[in-house]
Amino acid sequence: MSCRLVIDSSLLDWSADLPQEPPDEDVVCKCDARNVMNSVLRHDYHLWLSTDLYDEMCDQLYDQKKPEYKFRQWPRLWLQTMQERRRIENVQIPFENVLQGVQMCNEMVKDAHLIESALSSDGCVISRDEKILACWIGLCHKNPPAAIVTAHPKISSIVWADPQVQGEDVVWWLDAGAPEADAEAWKLNNQSQLEHGCQDYQTDKCVLDSGRSSGGST
Ligand SMILES: [Zn+2]
Repeated sequence: MSCRLVIDSSLLDWSADLPQEPPDEDVVCKCDARNVMNSVLRHDYHLWLSTDLYDEMCDQLYDQKKPEYKFRQWPRLWLQTMQERRRIENVQIPFENVLQGVQMCNEMVKDAHLIESALSSDGCVISRDEKILACWIGLCHKNPPAAIVTAHPKISSIVWADPQVQGEDVVWWLDAGAPEADAEAWKLNNQSQLEHGCQDYQTDKCVLDSGRSSGGST
């Protein structure tokens, strides 16, 4: 298996146990997330995570002070198993892949480590957060092209799989060995725009002036 995957902590969050009598859609989310994660485990995929992204995962899973802690045993065990099998790699983000905040909205800035990790590995993200996917698709469809896409042209061809958007196809694709040809439609510039449109793309100037860190907290 050659495909190095970048996985967002949103997927691990959704795989957690649910409180009693959860809404139906939460049960669906949980099943989607676990199916994807089980497939990743079953097929010897490796995760490529930047230090930022890995720290974010650990913060969410191992912080005993958070009320969600007791529900997150399943994703903790999954992560532990991945670690024991040495399938979590630390991605060093080269300077040319660091996104400088240009034109991203606050959510995109917060999740920029996903794109940075993907640019620095095989360009393949799995997440479960339709809103952030919508933001990136929208940015890749901008005409004239957004400055950040001009500066990092590989962003447009990042394969972004989200079980909320592509359904069970994501698991079938992973089970099939993540064939590149089958993921053509999931490249950011090939995906159709989603209902949630990002209204908050910043102008180059205001982001450059404010810097990345100040835009990051939501
Ligand atoms: Zn946005």
